[in-house]
Amino acid sequence: MQELESCEICPHRCKVNRENGQIGRCRCNDKIKIALVSVHQYEEPCISRINGSGTIFFSNCNLNCMYCQNYEISQLGKGREILVEELADIFLEQQAKKVNNINLVTPTMYAYQIIEAIKIARKKRTRNSNNI
Ligand code: SF4
Repeated sequence: MQELESCEICPHRCKVNRENGQIGRCRCNDKIKIALVSVHQYEEPCISRINGSGTIFFSNCNLNCMYCQNYEISQLGKGREILVEELADIFLEQQAKKVNNINLVTPTMYAYQIIEAIKIARKKRTRNSNNI
C-alpha cells in the first residue's frame, strides 16, 4: 500500500516505510492488528442505543496517554493480525448483528486499510443483496 511507504497518516509524520517492516511512533507495520470485536452495550446511551455498538478495538496507538485504560492493547500491542478481507467480513458480521453503529476504536494508524476493507464490504454486501 503506497501510503504506508512513507507514513504520514497522523501528525507525527514519521515517514517510515511500514511496508518494509519499519515502525514509527505507533509501532504499527503494514498489517492490521485487532484486539477485540464485541457488541458493546455500555457505551454512552446515544451510541449504544438499543442493540449496542459494534466495536472493533485496533491494537497499538499513535498516542501515548499516560492513563490509558486499554494500555495492554494500545501500548503493548496485544492482539492478532488480520487481513483486510477479514476486516471487511468483521464489518459485515457486526452489521448482521444489527448493531446501531460500527465503532472503530483507535483506528487512525490503519486508516488506509480500513478504507480498503469498507470498499470490500460494500461490494460483498451489494453482491449478497442481489441474491435475495
Ligand atoms: S500512523 Fe504511526 S507511523 Fe504513521 S505517522 Fe502516525 S505514528 Fe507515525
